[in-house]
Amino acid sequence: MSENSLNELAQLTALAERLADEGQMNLNKLVEAAVYAQIRRAGWKRRPQISKDLMQAELANAVEALKKNDVSPELIAAMEIGLRALQTKRGGDMMYDESPDIFVCRMCGYAALGKPPDHCPDCGAWPGRFRKFVAFFNRDNIEPLNPTSVLDLLAENAMELARLVEGLSEETMNRQTAEDIWSIRDHIAHFYDTQEMLDTRVHLMLNHDDPDLAAMAVFEFATEADRHPTTAQGILKSFCQKREACVVLLQQRSLSDLYRTGRHAEFGGLTILRQAAYMAFHEQVHLAEIDLLCREVVSP
Ligand SMILES: [Zn+2]
Repeated sequence: MSENSLNELAQLTALAERLADEGQMNLNKLVEAAVYAQIRRAGWKRRPQISKDLMQAELANAVEALKKNDVSPELIAAMEIGLRALQTKRGGDMMYDESPDIFVCRMCGYAALGKPPDHCPDCGAWPGRFRKFVAFFNRDNIEPLNPTSVLDLLAENAMELARLVEGLSEETMNRQTAEDIWSIRDHIAHFYDTQEMLDTRVHLMLNHDDPDLAAMAVFEFATEADRHPTTAQGILKSFCQKREACVVLLQQRSLSDLYRTGRHAEFGGLTILRQAAYMAFHEQVHLAEIDLLCREVVSP
């Protein structure tokens, strides 16, 4: 790839990240799609350039180039197994054990085989931040959500949050590193607010057919006075109770209840399960931010 086109895609990807950080999730979606579209289009224009005879040499070149481009050694190693299989005319597809599903960190691009690491070794991202790549007859990464793992993740995030801030004083949790940067307390308040929103939406979807789920600017609530218990510990405790009650409620509901729907002005059609999953994955962004913040505000 020419330096220029890679730079353009890099710039677009960075823009997509910024838009997501600013809550522009639909613009983020459009820009992410544009990045993917350009990559597919560039490949499309080269068809049918690579013949069967050429693919082995192409793969060998590609592996060498990827090594220089800082791609994870695990991914390179798997590709090299595939390359050797082609070179020795072993025949057939690679075995799944040789080429498990791949998880790419959507923060920094680190690639892990088989399962996402507990934390990205390069940037510290939580496992829910990895994009899974599967063989494409499995519909190019689209897979049904597993209700059990979504509910487990909701419960685990609450435990992670409590673990991260365990033993911190109120003063530390209220400390801001810059004027418009959230304190740890603000992040905890955000968990609390989004849990309240989840409770509201679950209630609406369980009790009404395809209700309108009014878009709420939950982001603004975190710094609003009088919305929360007075101390950060108090907010955390109350959040954990609400979370547990919510998880238990959803665990007790039937599968068809979890697929009850609602409509949202920004996200379109939602199910209870999709809403819960969105929340669980979104929380992992905040967990990473809190983790970083803890290191900055806790005095050595
Ligand atoms: Zn990473």
